[in-house]
Amino acid sequence: MNGGIFPGNGKLGPGIWSWSLPAITTCPGRSKECEKLCYATSGFFAMPSVTGTYRKNWETAKAPDFSRRMLAQILVNRVDVLRIHVSGDFYDAAYTAKWLTIVRAARRTTFYCYTRSWRDPKILPHLLALAREPNVQLWFSWDRAMPYPPRVRRVRIAYMSVNDADVPEKHVDLVFRTNRRSAMKFLGKALVCPHEQGLQRKSRLTCTTCRICFEPDRFAAVRRSNKSRLARNRQGKLIEVPRRTRRKV
Ligand code: SF4
Repeated sequence: MNGGIFPGNGKLGPGIWSWSLPAITTCPGRSKECEKLCYATSGFFAMPSVTGTYRKNWETAKAPDFSRRMLAQILVNRVDVLRIHVSGDFYDAAYTAKWLTIVRAARRTTFYCYTRSWRDPKILPHLLALAREPNVQLWFSWDRAMPYPPRVRRVRIAYMSVNDADVPEKHVDLVFRTNRRSAMKFLGKALVCPHEQGLQRKSRLTCTTCRICFEPDRFAAVRRSNKSRLARNRQGKLIEVPRRTRRKV
């Protein structure tokens, strides 16, 4: 792997490109909980080719011409949606400001990301500037081991739940689960990421098909449709039941 942006992965699906940096070392807002449970430190992410690529990306990100190089990759590949940081985060103010230049020059691309770097007062103003851009969807990440994020217009809040009893005590828009053994569409009042609801589905669900993290208009519709009841099939497994067939199951 030569570094740079890449199309898709198992969760993102084929329609989304991503850009990543080394996990933890580039995450100034990390909590003890997310550091302990970080998915980007094991499995595929721990392969030497992958860690090497992310280190190379970090060197690229520090270069003065990073914005120009990133923009070239986005335009050459005609990127429709870019997930910033499947691994890693906005590690300082200068790097975050470079992304503002990129998103302003690539208006046909939608950018989205989750970040804990809002905890760094030097980075926060740059994140707020990013959030004001029409082609950016920014999420502030939160978990039980850190303070509640600031409530800001156009920024949604995502909660990392470590078990089914770990219910957010304040408003959040979306929940990610590190433990997905049970089936669950809502945790408290918040929608669980459909990819992490622990349901058997007829077709594979990816971010490319779900889209609620980068298409806010879809969020209400998906939230409504997820209120359909769960039911057990003949094998006793929880499945999603469309409203019109609920009685037949
Ligand atoms: S809510 Fe949808 S778009 Fe967001 S991470 Fe989950 S599957 Fe992907």
